[in-house]
Amino acid sequence: MPLDGQTFFVAGAGISGLTLALSLAQRGASVVVLERAAAVSEFGAGLQVSPNARKILNRLGLGAALTARSLDPKGLDVFAGGSRPLVTMEMGVIMRERFGAPYAVMHRADLADVLYKACRRHARIDLVFGVRSWDVVSHARGVTVSIDETDGQSRTSRGDAFIGADGVHSKTRTAVLGGDAARYGNRIAWRTLVPADSILSQIRPDSVSVLLGPNYHLVCYPLPHRRQVNLALFSEHRQPDAAGTQPVLPKEARRGAATEVLLAAAGDSWTPWPLYTVSTPRWHDGNIALVGDAAHAMVPFQAQGAAMGIEDAAVLAAALEGAADTESAFSQYELARRERVARVANTSLTNGRIFHMRWPLTLARDLAITLGGSRGHLSRLAWIYGYEVPDYTSAPAHEDRSR
Ligand SMILES: Cc1cc2nc3c(=O)[nH]c(=O)nc-3n(C[C@H](O)[C@H](O)[C@H](O)COP(=O)(O)OP(=O)(O)OC[C@H]3O[C@@H](n4cnc5c(N)ncnc54)[C@H](O)[C@@H]3O)c2cc1C
Repeated sequence: MPLDGQTFFVAGAGISGLTLALSLAQRGASVVVLERAAAVSEFGAGLQVSPNARKILNRLGLGAALTARSLDPKGLDVFAGGSRPLVTMEMGVIMRERFGAPYAVMHRADLADVLYKACRRHARIDLVFGVRSWDVVSHARGVTVSIDETDGQSRTSRGDAFIGADGVHSKTRTAVLGGDAARYGNRIAWRTLVPADSILSQIRPDSVSVLLGPNYHLVCYPLPHRRQVNLALFSEHRQPDAAGTQPVLPKEARRGAATEVLLAAAGDSWTPWPLYTVSTPRWHDGNIALVGDAAHAMVPFQAQGAAMGIEDAAVLAAALEGAADTESAFSQYELARRERVARVANTSLTNGRIFHMRWPLTLARDLAITLGGSRGHLSRLAWIYGYEVPDYTSAPAHEDRSR
């Protein structure tokens, strides 16, 4: 189905929504992005962009802009209390050679800004910020969308489809598609950025460091473009409303010297971020569908939530271009995505359990990590990093896959 002349509404100008807008516009569609906030959001902190997502962003023409604002880490050091890493997993050049694109670490706001500027340059993308409310109705010929803007203006427009990229607490999922509310996952991410010179004696300036402890782990990586280091500490909490300004770690946590220095550098600058997950039976109905966290928010212990939203966007745009009508495109999209996303979410949950193990289970864990070696992750995670977006223009191969 050629997308020229078609109009898509996208709710949410996050990573998934902006990637989708670019992917659709690149194929000739007109896109209206409805964002509740007054501007592209600066929220969040560090984000790892793995090759599967980077390849898609590169194809949208964003490679150079991303390189300018990210670090291509040489490796990932895993510490488990000691001052020397259990293992250093190789990244850098080998990622590009094996998976066709670099691994990048960057600030989420920088990625959002790169996407936003690319959308702004695109004549077929209309970005509407400060949307107070919207309603959508799906019908035989597409969708009707009513929009209330901040300045009190209201308008009603017709389009071909509406896609909710409105995040973990998505209105599209819950109010429009009647889907499930997000579930709190008993964990809080504590996030902060500290000046690079305060801690670079503790971690390698060209690498990601992961420090494992009982019931918590800490992920750090430099953001050289900002002269800062991103810290994200994940700890377990029964309630999402964590009190205080600092993570409280279990008493028996034998923190290594590096952890102490990192915690001291962060002081009480942490922002708590309760982790929610989403599992919902319906990803689409009529001419309305979901992408990204709205469909499948997951815990971030494989650093793949945004990457899955980026993949969703690329697959959905390709499916819409290749299918005879919107509903069959949405069905193909869900068929292509559901199993993969569930597998990634499970891997992420399992990582969380492994990262937070207590002694004596840590003995076996640490041995397994060490034996995995510096390249074990490349084959273990090839199914994630080596992903290719299906080509729906050669339709029969995909339509017949289940036979
Ligand atoms: C601590 C932490 C670390 C993470 N690390 C990584 C990582 O390293 N790599 C990775 O790939 N992922 C990571 N993730 C996951 C990643 O941040 C998310 O999966 C990703 O940002 C989701 O993007 P999204 O566009 O789907 O949703 P969001 O980023 O939530 O965007 C949704 C947008 O919709 C807007 N919106 C909401 N409601 C409405 C409405 N009703 N109408 C209009 N607009 C609306 C919001 O304002 C927002 O702009 C991490 C997450 C956390 C919490």
